[in-house]
Amino acid sequence: MLEKMEKGFDPEQVIEEFEALTKDAKRVQVETLKKILKDNGEAEYLKKWCLDGKTDPESYSSCVPLATHKDFEPLIQQIADGAPYPILTGKPITTITLSSGTTEGKRKFVPFNDELTETTMQIYRTSFAYRNREYPIGNGKALSFIYGSKQFKTKGGLLAGTATTNVYRSEQFKKTMKEMQTPCCSPDEVIFVPDFHQSLYCHLLCGIIFRDEIQVISSTFAHSIVHSFRTFESVWEELCFDIKTGTLSTRITVPTIRTAMARILRPNPELADKIHEKCLSLSNWYGLIEELFPNAKYIYGIMTGSMEPYLKKLRHYAGGIPLLSADYGSSEGWIGANVNPTRPPEMATFAVLPHIGYFEFIPLRDTGAGSPDHGEPESQLIRVEPRPVGLTDVEVGEEYEVVVTNFAGLYRYRLGDVVKVVGFHNSTPELQFICRRNIMPPINIDKNTEKDLQLSVEAASKLLAAEKLELVDFTSQVDLSSDPGHYVIFWEVSGNATDEVFQECCNCVDLTFIDAGYVSSRKVQAIGPLELRILKRGTFQKILDHYVGLGCTLNQFKTPRCVGLVNRPVLQILYDNVVKSYVSSAFGKGCRVCE
Ligand code: AMP
Repeated sequence: MLEKMEKGFDPEQVIEEFEALTKDAKRVQVETLKKILKDNGEAEYLKKWCLDGKTDPESYSSCVPLATHKDFEPLIQQIADGAPYPILTGKPITTITLSSGTTEGKRKFVPFNDELTETTMQIYRTSFAYRNREYPIGNGKALSFIYGSKQFKTKGGLLAGTATTNVYRSEQFKKTMKEMQTPCCSPDEVIFVPDFHQSLYCHLLCGIIFRDEIQVISSTFAHSIVHSFRTFESVWEELCFDIKTGTLSTRITVPTIRTAMARILRPNPELADKIHEKCLSLSNWYGLIEELFPNAKYIYGIMTGSMEPYLKKLRHYAGGIPLLSADYGSSEGWIGANVNPTRPPEMATFAVLPHIGYFEFIPLRDTGAGSPDHGEPESQLIRVEPRPVGLTDVEVGEEYEVVVTNFAGLYRYRLGDVVKVVGFHNSTPELQFICRRNIMPPINIDKNTEKDLQLSVEAASKLLAAEKLELVDFTSQVDLSSDPGHYVIFWEVSGNATDEVFQECCNCVDLTFIDAGYVSSRKVQAIGPLELRILKRGTFQKILDHYVGLGCTLNQFKTPRCVGLVNRPVLQILYDNVVKSYVSSAFGKGCRVCE
């Protein structure tokens, strides 16, 4: 499929091929597993599990155990240190990917190779082909808020960087973007710079300079798009000045960026005045993106999962421009493409590409047998996890944890993501992203998920809307230092509300968790009253800066929704920036709005 597409990119042909592959998903999965196991038969990891040349799914799942990143960590370290023998793959690994580390507070090393770049391009082309049927774009450019992190050499001399950096640096990426008529409007010097503040300023400047040509506004995650236009709100006059005079702001100090921007920037008072006028005419920046980019066809990025809370603000900036949610993947590899682009982002699903990896799914349905609701305390239960099922054996309506076997040396790797099967595209499942698994550690018998937290916060933040305030961002901590333990929710809000309103918000978050374990534990005070702590403006920017300081890129950033004790620096930033704190009086007095 890939060789054919490289000769020329015909979206209709891509669709035809995807349809054929998904009609035969079961066979394609068997073939894909066979190829992965054959290509990597010499790898020590596979030899250890005595597959003895067998490549069928049954032998594979009975010989090779499920594994997590922890299991692979020492092996990946050996690769990074330059071990001269095949550890995970037949061909040597030459590049290491660093995950964002934003969900668990620790950046993970993951093997990367050309096959992963190729599967990335396949995902890009597949979803583009379907997107382009509904939202055709002409020749033009994309304002892509993308950032390449610094790459470095590991002890063994392997190149290490974020997954997106590895991809953005590849020739295939540029070629594919060109074929998709959306080359990035910013020069490489702007993308590959260690200082993302300078990079972002220049992305915005390039976007305005090429405003008539901009067809698409995009980033990996929606957070980064919202962050970019929030930044625009504070730098727009400076941007206009630069365009008017044709001189670059002194805030840009990196010589390579200055040289690259000098090739683009010319005095254009007419354009500067137009943008100035438009900005002044907007009410609370509503429709900013539409005004700035009159020919933009859509805004594109991952808008599901932990990105959903940013949709409200993104819609506000977008005005009438449609929001199209991007595909589903991770540093460990891509999984599914959004082939139904007209669905609202909240309903986006991902059709698994059966030839880019071998996928299994651990059923998460709680059968209830022996559960605490049946009278036994959690501690006495022996939980036997159900066996994973194959890609085409999943059931509609059920939730699963995703298990990936990829072309870069990860075998039966538990990704830690929870997805729901909402249907099938031919015979491949369409997944809805639910949340990361086990983000909120239990205090008692509670089983709240990242999604539950998101829904409770969303419900409570509606009380802010009545005050014309917005929730900028949020996170939480499960505080076990108090007895009983309790949840602490951290909010950054766009302005100041009264104590009464915040108290009501606090009660509302506490009351809207629907997990029976949480509710019953709260009722008997086995979990203490929830605390809502209000943060200084700019706290989440500090958290972002912290992660960027660790080497994470802005386009990879996902606000951690529950900060664990291991993530001390982020907890410290939160603690240092609390301005007010409220303790829930729900499960006592109750909350007017939520009752
Ligand atoms: P990283 O390892 O930093 O590349 O982040 C990958 C993680 O981001 C995945 O495991 C998911 O939890 C999340 N993610 C990726 N794509 C999506 C998506 N389309 N919707 C929701 N979450 C996503």
